[in-house]
Amino acid sequence: MSDLQEIVSEIVDAMRAREDRGEVATYIPELARVDPGAFGIAVIDREGNVAVGGDADTPFSIQSISKVFTLTLALGKVGDRLWSRVGREPSGSPFNSIVQLEREQGLPRNPFINAGALAVTDVIVSGHQPREALGEILRFMQFLGQDGAIAIDQAVAASEQRTGFRNRALANYMKSFDRLDNAVDFVLGVYFHHCAIAMSCRQLATAGRFLAHLGRNPETGLSVVQPDRARRINALMLTCGHYDGSGEFAFRVGLPGKSGVGGGILAIAPGKASIAVWSPGLDPSGNSHLGRIALEELTRRLGWSIFGM
Ligand code: GLN
Repeated sequence: MSDLQEIVSEIVDAMRAREDRGEVATYIPELARVDPGAFGIAVIDREGNVAVGGDADTPFSIQSISKVFTLTLALGKVGDRLWSRVGREPSGSPFNSIVQLEREQGLPRNPFINAGALAVTDVIVSGHQPREALGEILRFMQFLGQDGAIAIDQAVAASEQRTGFRNRALANYMKSFDRLDNAVDFVLGVYFHHCAIAMSCRQLATAGRFLAHLGRNPETGLSVVQPDRARRINALMLTCGHYDGSGEFAFRVGLPGKSGVGGGILAIAPGKASIAVWSPGLDPSGNSHLGRIALEELTRRLGWSIFGM
């Protein structure tokens, strides 16, 4: 067994044994049905060695982790013009906060809070039917995750369509400031569905590899974005990827990361590895409780924090 696999296996055993698991998200009713005992992890290094453990091949709802990939697509479509639609500063607020949006005239702080992700989705929808825009996002995930079987969990999407009142409020509020070009229902529909994409840790870690290696998957050699764009997406993940828990994540883990309320986290060790963890129980900021602890342990043992040992 490789050293990396040994560390990953030990972390899985330690996480499985813990009783503090956080709380599974219930505001999207379908997510409340997920087993809080699940735990998975996949680490893929530069050479393509894969270390996995636990439920690494069980698909889960990627939720806000999809925002990394919609940001990548929107930057590809409109380039730096995107930054007139959404900011690049940490919010220090919960992911679905409305109060900040009022103070800042409907201009979202960053692309990873819900309001910012809605602005990004709006850019992707422009010029397309919602179904086409969603198809483009899904195909991008299948390409990056190197698996044509990656799909949207329709039950999760329908569940959020029915109950996403807060996101509806955010989108309508932005529309009142003329911050969305497309119909509110179109933007929300595409947003709820891309959040409902289901992927395993292994697929997600595969999809994140371009971010760890200057915009390019080192194994396939296929370039996804220019190096400077990968660097900037990583910077946003570090400063904004965990909402009002971003400082704590940088402090403890020290890697760019993006969480989702499905309990997943994609973390990038630049030049070294792409890592996905999944544990459905969340902390009060809506970030995976054991996912963060597992990443803290992994980076500590491997000396992978971008801030040094
Ligand atoms: N779809 C979820 C929402 O909009 C995503 C939130 C998250 O993962 N933090 O509420």
